[in-house]
Amino acid sequence: MLTVEEALAEILGQVPRMPAESAGLLETLGRVLAEEVSSPRDLPPHDVSQMDGYAVRSEDLRGACAGSPAQLSVVARSVAGRGTDRPVREGEAARVLTGAPLPEGADAVVVQEETERDGDLLRVKVAPSPRDFVRARGADLAAGCAALAQGTLLGPAQIALLASVWRSQARVFQRPRVAVLSTGDELLDLDGLCSSGAAAAAPVPQRIIDSNSWSLCAQVLAAGATPVRLGLAPDDPEAIGRALDAAARCDVVLTSAGVSVGERDFVKDVLARRGVELRFWRVAMKPGKPLAFGLKGGQLYFALPGNPTSAMVSFEQFVRPALLTMAGRRSVRRTRLMASLEGTLAKKAGLVHFVRARSRVDAGGRLVAAPVPRQDSGLISSMAQADSLIVLPAAVEKVASGEAVEVQLLDGFEG
Ligand code: AMP
Ligand code: MG
Repeated sequence: MLTVEEALAEILGQVPRMPAESAGLLETLGRVLAEEVSSPRDLPPHDVSQMDGYAVRSEDLRGACAGSPAQLSVVARSVAGRGTDRPVREGEAARVLTGAPLPEGADAVVVQEETERDGDLLRVKVAPSPRDFVRARGADLAAGCAALAQGTLLGPAQIALLASVWRSQARVFQRPRVAVLSTGDELLDLDGLCSSGAAAAAPVPQRIIDSNSWSLCAQVLAAGATPVRLGLAPDDPEAIGRALDAAARCDVVLTSAGVSVGERDFVKDVLARRGVELRFWRVAMKPGKPLAFGLKGGQLYFALPGNPTSAMVSFEQFVRPALLTMAGRRSVRRTRLMASLEGTLAKKAGLVHFVRARSRVDAGGRLVAAPVPRQDSGLISSMAQADSLIVLPAAVEKVASGEAVEVQLLDGFEG
């Protein structure tokens, strides 16, 4: 049986990078740039004023101060988007507003608070240095310089930079398409029930609503990939196989349940018969010990356990890093921080445990992690309470209250 780290290394060693595609600016949010972007022109395209004030020649104002202001005459006006052709000569100034091009001849800006204006006459009470309050042409980006390197994760600021260099599209790595299939004789399809109006009727005895395909599709979306819901298949090899036929155009296939050693657990056999090369099928962790990973052509297959928490925790540890790697991300693991344990924990040595927890930053700035009360891996509600996972190493048997534990923060963590 592989350790969690061995299993993750095995998976990430097999993961292909997605091809690149062109996307509109907002479609690139959260994705990775697949090209280097350079600036075709200087940004800003000319020297501009950083303040409302007056463009001046600094040499005209040597020695000026509040007690002995210098006098200049205002000969022009430059506002953002509309500069002036009139140069500033000796003894002259030009009115400038924030973002306005600096008129020729001027080399500094004096803020309006340091001046007094009387018609065209300007009294200046400071002696600026050259370039004061001037943002130089090309200061943001010089023409021909790299604006964004290939491999950059695109957030709002990077998108602003793309727009500034006139790019309305950028090449980014494609989102992986991920097929999601729930298996199990006991499962009912929420969609089918709701569309037939049966949801309002009496509950169907001995059967449960499929929740795994919803949690997994949501996790796929949250990881920036595209889910393709294949729905449900009963515990029947032919039916599972037929359902998987619909995954042909997906990059990754996720199944849940039927992957252990029970007499109705067919998923591993079905995958093997379909030519999926299984690399491993158990990992030394709890929840989530039965977990099969395989490859076929360029496709990755993850057969996840059926218990709702086990499926989600397995996704977190293995599928999410794989999807992020495919999408070109370099940092693919959840942030892990040390926290102080609130409560006690005990387990047998042997497996890594991922304990559902709520974590918070206390008044002293310390992270505190409290296990949620019930850890049965079949409980969806306990997973819904958790915003983090305490990671207890295989060898650990007991942790006392106040001791340090490692915590993996999930999307729901709010601090
Ligand atoms: P299995 O892995 O098939 O042994 O299933 C383990 C447990 O998970 C059983 O209690 C199943 O009823 C439950 N389970 C399996 N699939 C789902 C699903 N799609 N949604 C909710 N619970 C499930
Ligand atoms: Mg089952």
